[in-house]
Amino acid sequence: MDICPKCGEPLTIENIPQKKTTNYNDCIKKCKTCGIGISNSKTNQTIIYKNFKDNIPKSLHYKLDDILKLSINQVSHKQKIIRMGFVTSEDTLSWIFFSYFIKNNKTDILLKLLGFKIEEVVDIYFWGVSYNDPSINNNFRKTLVNILKDKFNEEEKYYSEPDIIIETKTKIMFIEVKYNSENSTGKVEKIKKYLKKEYFLDFKKANKSLYYELIRNWSIGNVISKNKEYYLLNIGLKRNFDKENTKENIILFHESLNNKNNFIRLTWDKIVENMNNEEIDLYFITEMNKKIFGKANGHIA
Ligand SMILES: [Zn+2]
Repeated sequence: MDICPKCGEPLTIENIPQKKTTNYNDCIKKCKTCGIGISNSKTNQTIIYKNFKDNIPKSLHYKLDDILKLSINQVSHKQKIIRMGFVTSEDTLSWIFFSYFIKNNKTDILLKLLGFKIEEVVDIYFWGVSYNDPSINNNFRKTLVNILKDKFNEEEKYYSEPDIIIETKTKIMFIEVKYNSENSTGKVEKIKKYLKKEYFLDFKKANKSLYYELIRNWSIGNVISKNKEYYLLNIGLKRNFDKENTKENIILFHESLNNKNNFIRLTWDKIVENMNNEEIDLYFITEMNKKIFGKANGHIA
C-alpha cells in the first residue's frame, strides 16, 4: 500500500531501519497528517494509529480513559494502549463491541446475541474494571485483585486480566476474546497453580490441553462467582475455531471441566450476522462488519 487509507495522499517513506513494528513510530510508511502507519511486515500488513483512539468510533470513547487507567495489570498498561492502536487489536475489538451495548442501554440485545435469556445486567467489567463505577474502590475490582493475590499467588506485576466479565442478576460470565489468533497455550508449570480440584474432573486432560488462558479464566471465574452461576465464553473468528476444532487440545480442555455445559464457544461471524436483526446503530453494525468480514480482519491483504 502506497497511499493513505484515510486521506488517499501518498505515504511518506521514512529513512529508518526496518524492524518488527511495535508501534506507530517504527512504521517506515506513514501518513503524518492522519497519524496512520503501515506495519513493516512483508505479508499481513496492518494499519497502526498514532493515537489509539482513532481506532475506535468517537461515540465509544466515553469512559475509555477512566477504565484503561485502572486496568488491573498496571505493568502492561502502556503496552496495552500502544497495541490498541493496531487495527488487529483484540482489546480494541472487545471495547468496541461490549461497551456499545452497556453505553446505549442495550444489554438485552447483548445477552440475546450471546445466546442467553434476557435478565438484568448488573455491570460489565473491562480488564477487571467496572463500567458503571470505574474507581479503584469498586468492590468487584477489589475482590478480583484479592482472589488473584490470595487464591492464586499471583504477583502484582503479573496479574491476570480477564478480557471481559458480564455480571447479571444470576450469572457471572468471563469472556475470553480472540480475534486473529487461536487460544493461547502455555507450559504445564504455568498452568499448575490454576488447577483447583473443585472445578476440574480431570487434571490430566486439562494439563494436556495446554490452554493456559482458558484454564486460568475457568478457575478464577469459578472462585469469584460464589453463589452466581458461572460461564466461560470463548469468542473467536470462525476460521480459527474451525481449525482449533480439528485439534485434540480443545476436546481435552472441554472434557477436563467439572461443568462442561458452562463452557461456550461462539464465533464473531455468527454474532455479527445476527446483529442485522436487532435494533442497533448503523455505524456500529458497519464497524463490526468491517472488523469481522472486512479485508483479512484488519490486515491489508
Ligand atoms: Zn492520510
